Amino acid sequence: MIELTVSPIVERKIKQGICVLEARDFPHLGVENALVHLVNHQGQFIGQAYLSAQNKGVGWFISRKKEPINQDFMQALLLEARQKRQSYEHSPLTTAYRLFNQDGDGFGGVTIDRYQDYAVFSWYNEYIYSIKDEIVAAFQAVYPDVLGAYEKIRFKGLDYESAYLYGDEAPEELTVFENGVAYQVFLNNGLMTGIFLDQHEVRGALVDGLAAGKSLLNMFSYTAAFSVAAAMGGARETTSVDLAKRSKELSEAHFQANGLAVDQHRFIVMDVFEYFKYAKRKGLTYDVIVLDPPSFARNKKQTFSVAKDYHQLIAQSIEILSPKGIIIASTNASNVPIEKFKKEIEKGFGRCKHRYLETYRLPSDFVSNQKDESSNYLKVFTIQVEK
Ligand code: SAH
Repeated sequence: MIELTVSPIVERKIKQGICVLEARDFPHLGVENALVHLVNHQGQFIGQAYLSAQNKGVGWFISRKKEPINQDFMQALLLEARQKRQSYEHSPLTTAYRLFNQDGDGFGGVTIDRYQDYAVFSWYNEYIYSIKDEIVAAFQAVYPDVLGAYEKIRFKGLDYESAYLYGDEAPEELTVFENGVAYQVFLNNGLMTGIFLDQHEVRGALVDGLAAGKSLLNMFSYTAAFSVAAAMGGARETTSVDLAKRSKELSEAHFQANGLAVDQHRFIVMDVFEYFKYAKRKGLTYDVIVLDPPSFARNKKQTFSVAKDYHQLIAQSIEILSPKGIIIASTNASNVPIEKFKKEIEKGFGRCKHRYLETYRLPSDFVSNQKDESSNYLKVFTIQVEK
């Protein structure tokens, strides 16, 4: 076993409960994709970690004990995770949700989602991928009721990003339910599945009538999941805008899965900034506007980042919002803490009077590490304009 002496800073972070290991704390190691024992300068054992570079950090702290990291270890974590999600398991209205969420459930680098009778594993680094057989075997022991599984590769270096893993194959288009609403998902086509499960509470608010009787504009709509939730919750009309051509057909599939006619629902393939201009020119207004952009995006003309540019989305939205309209401001950027996000939003509102209605963070199936604020990456505000 490799023994690694770490600085007092690292020791303090680990004592605080932070699990992700940061690059600046682990310079020039020459250790990669391996399990290590961490010790302090006095030679005292701190715990076990693994090193493996990923989009966030260079590894994860995983245990304070000298226990073997094997199938039994994973099985115990998965069992505990299953117990935490009993309310989802017993809900007839929701059949898609997260089963295991990285450090929130005791092991960073892997997530597992349930889609009806199937599971989707996401591997975030090479080390976790190298022990996937043990994790999958542990999972099968804890979830004999899951019929089959797929995997997503969320690190660089392999020549595929999505694959079949075990068991029965899911239908190419699978219908899942959330808050009683049907969504058409695809488990083995690229990294995405047609729905971002972490937004289920926000969609739940729409199903419960946040946009009832209202018109809703859904910016960066992807498969228009917010729009279909709003429509099921009684929205009068919805408009969904996304640059990606495929978004239109995928969005229509969600609406059809619920037997909704699409004549009051529009799907527009366009840059959102172009659409703001178009709407202003045509004098269009909306009662509710959803703003859920990617953390970072680049097109031919410009780059967009939540950290620097979100205020523009708010400012543009105010111009086409009905009196007393509502903005649903959302980001999943883990590099933008909630206070910073709020500052961006405030910058966009300027002197326009407004009131915060609700705040949403990650829902309870996306168990986050409570000791590490950055692991609770989702931030959503519903905000009412007072004009
Ligand atoms: N709100 C969605 C998820 C958004 S994912 C949901 O809840 O499911 C981000 C989406 O933004 C992608 O579908 C991408 O195609 C789209 N996108 C990125 N830049 C864009 C732009 N400038 N204009 C319109 N859509 C954009």
